[in-house]
Amino acid sequence: VFAHVVQAPEDPILGVTVAYNKDPSPVKLNLGVGAYRTEEGKPLVLNVVRKAEQQLVADRSRVKEYIPIAGLADFNKLSAKLMFGDDSPAILENRITTVQCLSGTGSLRVGGEFLAKHHHQPTIYIPTPTWGNHPKIFTLAGLSVKTYRYYDPTTRGLNFHGLMEDLGSAPSGSVVLLHACAHNPTGVDPTLQQWEQIRKLIRSKGLLPFFDSAYQGFASGSLDADAKPVRMFVADGGELLAAQSYAKNLGLYGERVGALSIICGSSDVARRVESQLKLVIRPMYSSPPIHGASIVATILKDRDLFHEWTIELKGMADRIISMRHQLFDALRKRGTPGDWSHIIKQIGMFTFTGLNKEQVEFMNKEYHIYMTSDGRISMAGLSTKTVPHLADAIHAAVTG
Ligand code: PMP
Repeated sequence: VFAHVVQAPEDPILGVTVAYNKDPSPVKLNLGVGAYRTEEGKPLVLNVVRKAEQQLVADRSRVKEYIPIAGLADFNKLSAKLMFGDDSPAILENRITTVQCLSGTGSLRVGGEFLAKHHHQPTIYIPTPTWGNHPKIFTLAGLSVKTYRYYDPTTRGLNFHGLMEDLGSAPSGSVVLLHACAHNPTGVDPTLQQWEQIRKLIRSKGLLPFFDSAYQGFASGSLDADAKPVRMFVADGGELLAAQSYAKNLGLYGERVGALSIICGSSDVARRVESQLKLVIRPMYSSPPIHGASIVATILKDRDLFHEWTIELKGMADRIISMRHQLFDALRKRGTPGDWSHIIKQIGMFTFTGLNKEQVEFMNKEYHIYMTSDGRISMAGLSTKTVPHLADAIHAAVTG
């Protein structure tokens, strides 16, 4: 009965790793993967995560019962505080509902399904470009997906004028997806002044912001600084949605731990919204997994562990920033034509190099370097040892 099923293409991002794994070359370099790597090119389990896991295993009173549909209450409360701040007016006024979801992706999907069912304007505007999964998540959730201009390839920066124009002409009530920080794939974020203008426009037009926060702490190394744009939108008293992921900032990729928060107009509305979120979740996967959320809750509620986390997080962010400088310097040393300052200006895990598809293919064929075809490279996949190889490849691609 399935003979008619056609072979689906590999995921454009995860497919990069599939191709990398098949390459026998000893110099191969995977810059496609959006996961942190150490200087030695190895995945990293944070010390605080190991400590939290030891505590959890040592506690014999812990059981493996189902947790509630909305997830662990502690985890939800602490996640909201992490995103919105301890003294957030929305938390103090109880106008918020937070549900534990399957990492960032699951949080976006649950939020999308809720909006498709309950929001009067089921259209979402996403930036161009954006993370490749966004349009698929929201289309399958039942929303109509439209785009707004975001990146300007000529300046390799923000197309602020285009962004304001497109959001300015979006129908009232439309949802706007905003990357909270470290925009993927461009690494280009609005300045705080630009955020303020975006906020004013969104509020005056009656648009509904939906923040995707997949990199809190990864952009600047500070959890609070990276949450600033989101908190500006909370401070004005308006409504919003936020999807949080602990994949990157706690390195909990495979544990699939994240949260969806919806800030509402009153606590009464928030409770009703939560009851509907549970109706979205229950038929999808019943209830979320216990382990990852327990790790996060253990770290967030212990002052020492939390402090240790901020140091480890800053260590990851700083290593990425140092890779930016090393790559920039290596290209300058080679006299590679072009202005490469965007490498040090862009924010977060990725550099949007500006290399075109043919150059990416050339670097793959001749230098065994793997990245997405849009020229995005993961700075976290680089090390002091591999920077020269990448710089040689870029130089050859640009001059050849
Ligand atoms: N949003 C963005 C912008 C991302 O880059 C990612 C991860 N690549 C996610 C959401 C979700 O990731 P996860 O589901 O692993 O938390």
